Amino acid sequence: MDGQPTPTDKLAPLCPSSERLFLAILQYARMWEHFGVTALRTASMTETTADMTTSNPVWPSQPCLSSAGATEPATVPLPKGTPACPSVASDATSVPRTDSLSLRPSERLQALRVIADEVRQCTQCAELASTRTQTVFGVGNPQARVCFFGEAPGADEDQQGEPFVGRAGQLLDRIIEACGMKRQDVYILNVLKCRPPGNRNPSRDESAACRHFFERQLTTIQPEYIVCLGAIAATTLLQSNLTIGQLRGSFHDWQGIKVLATYHPAYLLRNPPAKKDVWQDMKILLADMGLPIPEQKG
Ligand code: SF4
Repeated sequence: MDGQPTPTDKLAPLCPSSERLFLAILQYARMWEHFGVTALRTASMTETTADMTTSNPVWPSQPCLSSAGATEPATVPLPKGTPACPSVASDATSVPRTDSLSLRPSERLQALRVIADEVRQCTQCAELASTRTQTVFGVGNPQARVCFFGEAPGADEDQQGEPFVGRAGQLLDRIIEACGMKRQDVYILNVLKCRPPGNRNPSRDESAACRHFFERQLTTIQPEYIVCLGAIAATTLLQSNLTIGQLRGSFHDWQGIKVLATYHPAYLLRNPPAKKDVWQDMKILLADMGLPIPEQKG
């Protein structure tokens, strides 16, 4: 965040009590609007079936790269007793789904700014807090229809303060563009906001500790779709013990949001043949979004 200012950096922070008052006022002032949005979201939850008969990787091949997030296929069991939303942070700063549905763009930015400020000061994971260059909150359109959800910052992200800016991030950009969208159209975030040393996988405790941050990001943005990039992102969000291979290919639900799991771009850099599988997943996404599926380019 410090090295790469995002729109959320342009807004002044709120203290926890002010945020609580801010959200309470919004909840009452937008009650009717909230009901309207909820009805629209419910009406749009009809899934369509995508054409899964052809392979269609439309982004160029890249050589192998060692990076965080390339652990597919894998099962990431959850620690016993992990709560759905660990109460690490004060309840006063939580942004429940029902409050954020009706937030206007500027208000979503303000809410994200509050969370980003908390993240910047967080030292919940002692090792990560002591080794990080900076926290990596998230970037993109706070009104995005789609959030891409990875596992943790790598070295490039730790230096630049923005998720998915290394070679895996460049591949993600090409995937997004292959879908007919741009990076700035979507929102990109990770499970962890701090880089695990050596790009190791996030520990169970670290994922649990950071959970309330990404949940609040997602419930503030309220995307229609969350695309989980990799096994860790998918199993952490969905609190599932299934493998990424088992989770791929169909939509799952997280708090009323459609969730699609696919392989992490870093895994694709090491295993280019898996690109066709990711493209199949993107076709499912595009079909459900009602967007055209671009022609195969190569
Ligand atoms: S990974 Fe998340 S919970 Fe852990 S120190 Fe960083 S911001 Fe805090």
